[in-house]
Amino acid sequence: MSQHTHAIRILIVEDDEFVLGLLGAVLDGARFETMGAASIKALHALRASEHFDAILLDLGLPDGDGLDVLRQIRSEGSFVPIIVLTRRTDVDARIKALELGADDYVTKPVDPRELLLRIRRLVSTRAEPGPKVEIEQLELGKWTLDLGQRTVTHSDRGEVALTRSEFDMLTAMFRAPRRVLSREHLLDALHRNDTGPDDRTVDVLVSRLRRKLGGSSGQFTLIRTVQGVGYKLVPGDS
Ligand code: CA
Repeated sequence: MSQHTHAIRILIVEDDEFVLGLLGAVLDGARFETMGAASIKALHALRASEHFDAILLDLGLPDGDGLDVLRQIRSEGSFVPIIVLTRRTDVDARIKALELGADDYVTKPVDPRELLLRIRRLVSTRAEPGPKVEIEQLELGKWTLDLGQRTVTHSDRGEVALTRSEFDMLTAMFRAPRRVLSREHLLDALHRNDTGPDDRTVDVLVSRLRRKLGGSSGQFTLIRTVQGVGYKLVPGDS
């Protein structure tokens, strides 16, 4: 028995009984431990008494909007990984969810393999501890990314808390500084391949990163927009 035998606990928030049962069966089959909540009230009751490693969050709930839940959890300062469940046509809701701090999204009808891939990516540091922990640091200007600890630190301002998706995208940028990276390349870093040319996931994450890394001045010189192509990371004074 190792110290890593505890199951990953996932809270599924979904009011559709059939979908809840299906998601539960998929995750249980992959040896996750799951609990279900069919309303926002039930979600809050469970969160008050239980620890969860990730939350699957339906947006249309009988007693309110999942986006409000998302906003509330993030305003509490919690960085629990959250994957929202949206209909494929709900582009606005998906973008809003990403802006509010969702780590990822899965579209309904849910493909079990895709769901497992996304969950494993978000909880992988817990689910696959492995014998060797990667200790690698990437530095640029005053910024240091620690890939083992998954932290980003500024030499004057200290550590900045990022969500999993923000960190993954920033890592892709730090691995290729000063090079123009296309949105497609950055989507690959997030393991997204189901998005069209109009998808704004990358832009939303960039604006979140700029807000977090930009500091109180609002000035930002780290992530430059390259019109019509993508983004470029350049060291600056900020
Ligand atoms: Ca629903």
